[in-house]
Amino acid sequence: IDRFRAFNEFLNNDSGDELLKQFAQRLRLININAILVAYLNSDDFAIIYEISPIHPNIEQYCQNILQALNAPFYIDNHEYFITASIGVACFPEHGRQIDHLNNHAEQALSEAKRLGGNTISYYCNKAEHPYKTADLEQELRKAIQNDEFVIYYQPKISLLDQSIIGFEALIRWQHPEKGLVMPNMFIPFAERSSLISDIGKVVLDKVGKQLQEWKNAGYTNVQVSVNIVAQQIHRGLLLSDLDEVLQKYNIQGSDLELEITESALLDNTDNVKTLLHAIKQRDISIALDDFGTGYSSLAYLTEYPIDVLKIDRAFISKIGDHKQEAIVNAMIAMGKSMGLKLVAEGVETEEQVTYLQKQQCDFLQGYFFSRPIPAEQIIPYLQTDSHIY
Ligand code: C2E
Ligand code: MG
Ligand code: MG
Repeated sequence: IDRFRAFNEFLNNDSGDELLKQFAQRLRLININAILVAYLNSDDFAIIYEISPIHPNIEQYCQNILQALNAPFYIDNHEYFITASIGVACFPEHGRQIDHLNNHAEQALSEAKRLGGNTISYYCNKAEHPYKTADLEQELRKAIQNDEFVIYYQPKISLLDQSIIGFEALIRWQHPEKGLVMPNMFIPFAERSSLISDIGKVVLDKVGKQLQEWKNAGYTNVQVSVNIVAQQIHRGLLLSDLDEVLQKYNIQGSDLELEITESALLDNTDNVKTLLHAIKQRDISIALDDFGTGYSSLAYLTEYPIDVLKIDRAFISKIGDHKQEAIVNAMIAMGKSMGLKLVAEGVETEEQVTYLQKQQCDFLQGYFFSRPIPAEQIIPYLQTDSHIY
């Protein structure tokens, strides 16, 4: 609500509350098809809509809200006119987690208010979103053809002896004009079509080739983990893609690990189980990525042949807070008693290292040790002791 504070000071407290109530009622009436209409705090409300080709577009929903405010509110027989500002953020382009989305909607809202209110503003971070989505699909297909993807590698460190046990392969797009584009800018988009499977295949191939090069240079014990999405699991081509890479580059299954998120394991249980067992037969290790943030049915920990839990960095970043620490401890204890290895993601501080060491977490990954680095810097990195803390 624009300038609500001024209103509130002008009216008495009860009338301010009454205005909020009436405003909330009106919001609900106009947004009858919304998934959620919620009151956040002070004069902030949130609305969640599902957008698809069969629904009105988002602009229309927002216009409806602003128009509905053309009619006055009546409080104590007085007539009041108010206006509102709207900030819009879209899943998944502007965030895959509710707090990111909400933050970005709030940033857009600030912009709408800055423009004087009574208007709609869309979250848009130009540095982050250099594309119109219509072009993005074409560009990504071209990028595959022109071999514009590069893999960065982020080390995973053993807490036992501070050695490097391997790397996570993280894709970047070396765009001819826009420079290095981070995966959050295109992976969520690619996941909406079969593009992600094509990109996934490119990543596997590049990693296989890299592993062969490192082996030839004498580094035979480097394991690389690769992120795999649900579609690759359900599409039925993953196994043959893996076999192809193992054969083509003459590497072992044990050189590879697949990182899968919880949500990828949700559907089609029998097929998934068969696939994971076939992967295990090849000696390829399986890690559950972003553990703790997904749907958290713990059942699949017993049902599926999982080797590693990667505790999401959301938990690691909150080490220092007792309740959050309790969650981390519980995850480590549970994983260990099930015979799984534990990786803490996103380790940034010495405090976190010390804590995780005390809890006997197996492996650590994060900026504290190293950011993801380009392939050509890996051998020099392995040769120095700079990673030992
Ligand atoms: P992820 O698999 O959870 O990867 C970890 C992300 O956390 C990486 O971001 C990494 O750079 C970042 N990170 C590592 N240490 C720290 C830290 O100490 N602090 C902070 N703040 N961040 C840290 P990145 O490379 O931007 O990748 C983001 C996501 O993109 C990945 O999350 C993964 O879901 C996806 N992704 C990356 N490469 C691929 C790929 O080849 N295929 C697929 N399907 N997805 C990929
Ligand atoms: Mg990962
Ligand atoms: Mg992760």
